[in-house]
Amino acid sequence: MKVYFITIFFKQIRYQLILIVLIFLNLCLTSSIYSQESNEYSLKTVVIDAGHGGKDPGTSGRKAKEKDVTLAIALKLGTYIEENIPEVKVIYTRTTDIFVPLNERAEVANKNKADLFISIHVDGWHNPKTYGTSTYVMGLHKTEENLELAKKENSVILLEEDYTSKYEGFDPNSAESYIIFSFLQNTFLEQSLNYAAFVENEFETKAVRKSRGVKQAGFLVLWKTTMPSVLIETGFLTNQREERYLLTKEGQEYIASAIYRAFKSYKATIEENSKFITKIEPKSSIEDTNEVFFKIQIASSSNAISISSDYFKGIENIEEFKFSESYKYTVGSSSSFEKIVEFKKLITDKFPDAFIIAINKNNQLIPLNEALNMIKK
Ligand SMILES: [Zn+2]
Repeated sequence: MKVYFITIFFKQIRYQLILIVLIFLNLCLTSSIYSQESNEYSLKTVVIDAGHGGKDPGTSGRKAKEKDVTLAIALKLGTYIEENIPEVKVIYTRTTDIFVPLNERAEVANKNKADLFISIHVDGWHNPKTYGTSTYVMGLHKTEENLELAKKENSVILLEEDYTSKYEGFDPNSAESYIIFSFLQNTFLEQSLNYAAFVENEFETKAVRKSRGVKQAGFLVLWKTTMPSVLIETGFLTNQREERYLLTKEGQEYIASAIYRAFKSYKATIEENSKFITKIEPKSSIEDTNEVFFKIQIASSSNAISISSDYFKGIENIEEFKFSESYKYTVGSSSSFEKIVEFKKLITDKFPDAFIIAINKNNQLIPLNEALNMIKK
């Protein structure tokens, strides 16, 4: 009798175990199906970086310190996003008047796998007449003025201990140091430019500021980020009128809401683009009998790029081809030239430099006009 109960007891445990395993398997399965269905990209996390802080005041005006203005705008921007787009997680690099090293600001964004990094600053210049807003993306400066600004913003690392080893010997005041940015492979340049353009457009049209445009320079705070990132100069504290404006609550609200609206537009645009892109069909078997295929080349590299790389974020069915010394990455495939032209329009936003290539049935690259002649026959 006792043995019988024990057997039943163990049998029950076994059933329970089996049940648990089954539930677990089911969960794994549904989650994998779920992730397959939900591979459309959605912007989930944004990091807002209030420039300077603590012992580093940044630029000064007659009354205002950059660190106070950037914090006020950053907190307002975060609140607008949290209130109006609650599904987006907002993370700040600082919420009080503290000193945060530049590399740690980028780390906050990387560690949290942010989708966008927004660094907020205020400009200063020796000519008090200069005013207006600029939004920077990472890259090599094109003018001396942009280099001067990058030097000024980067020189805050001199306040950090151990800055030579932390920034790989980078000297913020030497122009030679900036040459490294000409070799920079900025994977997220396109998206960064996209967001920057939205910001400057909002500044100009809705906040009625003078937009000095979208620019490039080697900002250390953007250097190590692994997502689209921008640095926004919200005006000049060295210009009296602009300083007054940036010191008022109303001015700060205008600036913050412009950056917020740009964020909303950017989010909508990239999410909409990813919907189209994820629907791309791989090469179909019917087409296998064709002589030539047209594809859209979106990247080319001397080293192989992982198909799951962030570079191709949200895009499925990427094909890799190795032609002589380079790897080419393509999306879409059709034996109809018209179809591929139509399709290319869908990805132009994300990959403006994409172009059509032709491949024969032996997977060899052939000149486009040769391919077009082949399909005419
Ligand atoms: Zn600054």
